[in-house]
Amino acid sequence: MPNTLIHIASNLILVGVIYLFSKYITKKNFDWKFASILLISSNLIDIDHLLATPIYDLTRCSINLHPLHSWYMFPIYFIGLFFKKYSFLFLGIIMHLLLDYIDCLI
Ligand SMILES: [Zn+2]
Repeated sequence: MPNTLIHIASNLILVGVIYLFSKYITKKNFDWKFASILLISSNLIDIDHLLATPIYDLTRCSINLHPLHSWYMFPIYFIGLFFKKYSFLFLGIIMHLLLDYIDCLI
């Protein structure tokens, strides 16, 4: 399904863009390995798909359907941005939600 590939590719491209941007703006002692792990792990938010039937259906909108993809979780993710050590995890999650939301508009 081409939509699936676009979805996965857009997530990966975004992770790459954030990564390069962070390398650009941060200082030399920036732990890029840890930040990369956090960014990649942010996609684990999709674990809540396991609660839905079917587990993966690209024609449906993930936002507000899955617990971790709900708007009421958004403030928690936003606050997480201010915990410097883990900010990349929450940045990745917010980007993930925005990309999932684009799928809802198509
Ligand atoms: Zn998702």
